[in-house]
Amino acid sequence: MTPEGDVTHKRSSIRDVGRLHRRLVLRALRDGGPKARIELARELGLSATTMTRVVAQLIEDGFATEGGPGESEPRVGRPSTAVSLAPEASWVVGVQVGAGTLQFGVCDLLGRPVWTASEDFDVSSDTPTHVLDLIETRINRLLAEHDVDRRRVLGIGVAAPGPVDVANRRNVLAINLGWRDVPFSDHIEAATGQSTVVDHNVRAMAAAEATFGGHADADPLLYVYINTGVGAGAVIAGEPFRPGPYGVTELGHLQVVEKGRRCTCGATGCLETVASEPYVAQQLENIASPPGDRPLTRLLDAVGQGDARAAEILDDLVGHLTTGLASAVNLLNPRLIVLGGMFEEAPAALFDTINESLVTKVFPVLRAEVRVERTRLGAHAGVMGAATVALDRYFYG
Ligand SMILES: [Zn+2]
Repeated sequence: MTPEGDVTHKRSSIRDVGRLHRRLVLRALRDGGPKARIELARELGLSATTMTRVVAQLIEDGFATEGGPGESEPRVGRPSTAVSLAPEASWVVGVQVGAGTLQFGVCDLLGRPVWTASEDFDVSSDTPTHVLDLIETRINRLLAEHDVDRRRVLGIGVAAPGPVDVANRRNVLAINLGWRDVPFSDHIEAATGQSTVVDHNVRAMAAAEATFGGHADADPLLYVYINTGVGAGAVIAGEPFRPGPYGVTELGHLQVVEKGRRCTCGATGCLETVASEPYVAQQLENIASPPGDRPLTRLLDAVGQGDARAAEILDDLVGHLTTGLASAVNLLNPRLIVLGGMFEEAPAALFDTINESLVTKVFPVLRAEVRVERTRLGAHAGVMGAATVALDRYFYG
């Protein structure tokens, strides 16, 4: 190597180390909240001098501020003064593509949707190109409506309804929409001028739940989203689980009923044929349930009123669901299974029933280790998932 090359190489290595330190500090502030420089240095194994330099740069760039909650007069620059992340220093846009609905959120650096919007589309007649146009137009409108400075938008994350390619640019299959190979990133980047990353919707929700859900000891974490279908995504050893070329984890297509109903995937008896919102809605046709609310709420109300047939339907639903979940537990050993979608508002008592049913079906040593909980992300899980994917790519990654 020539002396000039050597110098260039050294400079770029120093830059890389600087970037790594900056990333570590940002992640520590994101995960642990405000903290003094001296504590951050100890936690991350960095010198006090390095920490002073990294924090000074973050403050200059606007991503961090002096002082934490409860500190009325921050003593600027002191090693013992807390440093906080400035969550509204930059934004990402999260987009969830569901079956017939699009959810949008301009989210802060903690993945929280600050401004949101939604659009519907017709699953049976609208083409992927039409839906891409709808996404692009709505993102541009959302940013304009709230006067968002585009220079402060780091990028766009798309939570797609199915597997994506390795480079996170295309949705290779959306089985409930009948789409193949939709180039989300290329289209949206061209129409909005913002870098765009796409990931499987439920893997994105798993990443958001693991990062922003406030769960302790929750790794591996399995997120199961049950609505029109059943999707699953996992975070293992702190990283989104992406097995094989498409990162497919198709829990919804595990067979739980022998010689069961025909599924959209072509097989029979898949979990999503007997544990989805349309399935519950269809079962309600056989009982006198109160109208109105979402199917699961109506089913639970009927059970509460002593309807024996409703109780059987609920038993079957829980039984099928835990048969599917037990397979996932035996294969992946999650410590936490989070249920979203139609379970996002389900009562604690239903989770007790699910947990009791699940432990009877999993391998003995795993029984005490696994628990099933309701998502803590609420109805914005998909948008927060998409935002988390964008934040991981364009800010914390
Ligand atoms: Zn299937």
